[in-house]
Amino acid sequence: MAIHFLNTFSCSAHFPKEWGTGLLSLLIESEQGLILVDAGLGSEEYKNPSLFTRIFRRITKMPFDPRETALHQIRQLGYQPEDIRHILLTHMHFDHLSGIADFPQAKIHLFRDEFDAFLGRRKSFFDLAYVREHIAHHPVFVLHDLTDEKWFDFDAIRLPFSPEIWLIPLVGHTRGHCGVAVKTEKGWHLHSGDAAADFRQDIPAWAIRLVLGPHEPRLRAFGEAHPEVALTSSHMFLDFFEKND
Ligand SMILES: [Zn+2]
Repeated sequence: MAIHFLNTFSCSAHFPKEWGTGLLSLLIESEQGLILVDAGLGSEEYKNPSLFTRIFRRITKMPFDPRETALHQIRQLGYQPEDIRHILLTHMHFDHLSGIADFPQAKIHLFRDEFDAFLGRRKSFFDLAYVREHIAHHPVFVLHDLTDEKWFDFDAIRLPFSPEIWLIPLVGHTRGHCGVAVKTEKGWHLHSGDAAADFRQDIPAWAIRLVLGPHEPRLRAFGEAHPEVALTSSHMFLDFFEKND
C-alpha cells in the first residue's frame, strides 16, 4: 500500500535564508480507505486567516498558495475529498489542524490528552496556535488513550487500521503531541511530527528543546540504531518534498 508525502504549508525564515520548510502530511492508502496524517493549512485559512497565520505571514515568508492545501493535492492525485475516511493528528496547532474542515466526512483521530489541551485553558504562547474555530464544523473525533502496548520501546497506541498504524505519544511541543508510525510496503516509517526538526539538518539543540520539546535526542538515537526505519518530522526542509514528488 502506497504512502504519499504532501507539503501542506510552506513557511521560510527570513534568516537564515536557507531555512525553508514545509509541513509534511502523509497520505496513506489503507484497507479502511485513505488516511491523512495532519491536514495542513485549510482552504478557509487562505480566505479568512486566523491570528497565528497572520502572525506567520508577517514574521516569515509564506507562498500562501491555496494549491498547497491537502484538498487541492488530493484532487490532483485523482481522489475526491470524501475518499479521505480518517485523519490522524499529531497535535492540534493551526497548521496541522485547519485542513480538517476540507474533509468534513472524515473521522479525526488523536490522543485524548491533546484534545483536552486544545479545549482547556491557554497556558503558554504556543497555545495561541490552538484555534477553536477550526473544529466549528463539528467533526467526529475518535480519542485514543494509552494502553500498555509498545512500538519498539516507545509507549504506543495501536490504531484500528491495516496496514499497522500507531500513535506514539511524544509530549512536550504540546501537552498531547504524538508521532505516528506506519508500516509501509518498504518497512516502518516513524513520523515524529513537531517532536523533532528535520533530522538531516544541524539545528541548535537548545532551540529544538525550547520549541519542539525533549524527544529529539531519543528519536535521533533511535534512527541511528534502526536505519531500516524511515524517520521524518513535520517541518522538513523544502528539498525533501522536491525529492519525494
Ligand atoms: Zn506545532
